[in-house]
Amino acid sequence: MTNGKFDFTNYFKSYPDKDGYFGKYGGSYIPDELKVPMAEITEAYFNICKSRKFINELRRIRKEFQGRPTPITHLERLSNSLGNVQLYAKREDLNHTGAHKLNHCMGEALLAKYMGKKKVIAETGAGQHGVALATAAAYFGLECDIYMGSVDIKKQAPNVARMKILGANVVEVTHGLATLKEAVDAAFEAYSKEYKDCIYCIGSVVGPHPFPMMVRDFQSVVGFEAREQFMEMTGELPDSVVACVGGGSNAAGFFAGFLSDPVDIYGIEPLGRGTDLGDHAASLQYGTEGVMHGFNSVMLKDENGDPAPVYSVASGLDYPSSGPEHAFLRDIGRVKYDVIGDDDTIDAFYTLSRLEGIIPAIESSHAVAYAIKKAKEMDHGSILINLSGRGDKDMDYIIEQYGIR
Ligand SMILES: *Cc1c(COP(=O)(O)O)cnc(C)c1O
Repeated sequence: MTNGKFDFTNYFKSYPDKDGYFGKYGGSYIPDELKVPMAEITEAYFNICKSRKFINELRRIRKEFQGRPTPITHLERLSNSLGNVQLYAKREDLNHTGAHKLNHCMGEALLAKYMGKKKVIAETGAGQHGVALATAAAYFGLECDIYMGSVDIKKQAPNVARMKILGANVVEVTHGLATLKEAVDAAFEAYSKEYKDCIYCIGSVVGPHPFPMMVRDFQSVVGFEAREQFMEMTGELPDSVVACVGGGSNAAGFFAGFLSDPVDIYGIEPLGRGTDLGDHAASLQYGTEGVMHGFNSVMLKDENGDPAPVYSVASGLDYPSSGPEHAFLRDIGRVKYDVIGDDDTIDAFYTLSRLEGIIPAIESSHAVAYAIKKAKEMDHGSILINLSGRGDKDMDYIIEQYGIR
């Protein structure tokens, strides 16, 4: 199957290449002491994760523990309020723990178990990845060390409590600005010392090879399920699919189901308060090529070429880069990346809650807002939104900042 000029027939076999490149993006830019452990994960991924036994076990876990497949909901009242275009949502908010992140955490933790590791290590910013990984670790009986900046520990008390209840060890990182960047550094340092007993689990399609590939593959269950379910429901493919993009994992997995189809694909980044550097986190829109956190992709840079401060109302989207595969899909013209700001996002949060009885995560509300905007421009057709997570975690913040609308 071809789409435009690009042939997607063997896409998943060819992208990334053996060194982890999607075109010029991706790769592995890591200190020497991490090269051996990363190579070990890559080899284990190819040997273990492609085996029948692993695939069958993960499939069973997805069904019996995670509650997959998650349904697709026809958003009838929302569609009627907008005109003739029909909107649908793939309900990752109904995946266990309330978001898509568990899809890759269960895969990563199962890999750890097959590799004979005793522990999983990760960093977390807002705490969503930490909670998903702590859940997976509890399920498999693995130890779990989550590195978190002290500033974030204070801000994200409910997620810190969840991780602790699940039995994870939350390691406080106090140096520098004591937020995500310092937590990443501390977690990598711990990993380079402890790798014989543990694996590092990255929370999105970012970081050095093999993570952008592995996390995409674990998340692709969302896209493949959605394609089949949508065909069964409507007898045809959606005209457009939409997902929000932070690091890009929910989008990468969702898009995987539709890359070779005649379907318009939209990845939505947060425009936050506006186009000035520091007011948004739209790296695919405004970033330039650069290396950070072990991979080459697009990134928002400050005047010294370092990762710039970024902002979004959605804490899960405020990352100064995006996965290398997204930069590649942008360059070849397969996916159109666009932006939505805070105000439209909050409107969409309330609209979906009121018209459909679904409270979306603020991250996912970016995709909902874009679908609403798009539906107003089209006079017929269908749009399938990836509803990456539920908004319970965001309610206190929304009420405090915006009040009840
Ligand atoms: C973490 C998170 C995101 C952003 O991460 P991606 O890797 O871009 O998918 C989006 N939605 C929800 C609900 C999240 O928790």
